Amino acid sequence: MNTVAMADSARAAAPALDVERIRADFPILQIRPRGRPLVYLDSAATSQKPRQVIDALRRYYEEENGNIHRGVHYLSELATLRYDETREATRRFLNAESVNEVVFTRNTTEGINLVASSFGQAFVRAGDEIVVSLMEHHSNIVPWQLLCERSGAVLRAVPVTDTGELDLGAFESLLGPRTRLVALTWVSNSLGTVNPVERIVAIAHARGIPVLLDGAQAAPHLAIDVRAVGCDFLAFSGHKMLGPTGVGVLYARGDWFDRLPPYQGGGDMIDTVTIEKTTYAKAPSRFEAGTPDIGSVVAFRAAIEYLERTGLDAIQRHEHALVAEATAQVGALPGVRLVGTAPGKAGVLSFTMEGVHPHDIATILDQHGIAIRAGHHCTQPLMQRFGCGATARASFYLYNTMDEVNALVAGLHRVREVFA
Ligand code: PMP
Repeated sequence: MNTVAMADSARAAAPALDVERIRADFPILQIRPRGRPLVYLDSAATSQKPRQVIDALRRYYEEENGNIHRGVHYLSELATLRYDETREATRRFLNAESVNEVVFTRNTTEGINLVASSFGQAFVRAGDEIVVSLMEHHSNIVPWQLLCERSGAVLRAVPVTDTGELDLGAFESLLGPRTRLVALTWVSNSLGTVNPVERIVAIAHARGIPVLLDGAQAAPHLAIDVRAVGCDFLAFSGHKMLGPTGVGVLYARGDWFDRLPPYQGGGDMIDTVTIEKTTYAKAPSRFEAGTPDIGSVVAFRAAIEYLERTGLDAIQRHEHALVAEATAQVGALPGVRLVGTAPGKAGVLSFTMEGVHPHDIATILDQHGIAIRAGHHCTQPLMQRFGCGATARASFYLYNTMDEVNALVAGLHRVREVFA
């Protein structure tokens, strides 16, 4: 389907979201940067937060703050209850079997580092192989490189096609008897490609190889069912899905957590400690050493509930309509090259403009109140694959409108005029 037909078919499936009502929940959308209405098209970097999340954070510090798991007093018990309620909400959001499969981290990066460290220590030896892809965020490359340096293992990367899809044939042929883990992104932050994760997991599992998915760009946008996908690990960040910064999730299926050695040592992750020897708590406590960002975890529940109430399917339909329209309009501008044109993309539009550096595009748009991102998006191997050091990237979420797509296009016309 060409881009115009894509836009038509997305429009036909009318977005079911009441976007004006949603926008009213996000106080920051009312600010006027440089005297212009804010057009926020950088949600792939971090999402804005609804009043419900901000209120939950304020309520926590005004009425509920205490340290968890350590006290018998009212506030300690209340904070522990609220913290555990978010764990249950996360379990439900993922359709995980047990709350013991859910560990709170700071962010996606920490979740992946945890697996690279603990799984690596237990299961990866010199000569073993870890498979990633060329479209990974640096946070799903560098932790594995550090593991390879420590252990003598080897990192292999699945190539990416010209449209920005994983080459699944090459993926299969990279899997061998020494492959210990496959670590791939679910949705690409630079291209918007949604990878066929169920198929990927089935291919890897048929060879007995576990799979970690980087869900940083999936959890905000897709209805996730970890039991249907079957992945062994899934890492994502609260701040990209309407939640506060400082909270992330690492899901591990079944007894994986109990098979891994601790990541960090400290309070709350032990069973008994003597100077001679420590025994460790079971998951999830084993992987939550020290005082976590309790307030953010508690407020994260409000983000999950907001997404559930709004409906991930409706959000996805809305984003598809926006990105299809943006693709059609931006793709038709002279000198524009779209980077990442996979069918069924998530709400990300990456592009370059002949004769204009992406940073200049972003700077000129910013003067009109339009926030996009320019750079390598922490995916330098992918930028090299597409022969560009950087792209301009607009990313869409539930609070964006067709008017904002039009504002982006009008802004890009002005960029062209400046560089004519
Ligand atoms: N993976 C992907 C695909 C991402 O888009 C991001 C954030 N840009 C990350 C990992 C890292 O997320 P965080 O910085 O929240 O750890």
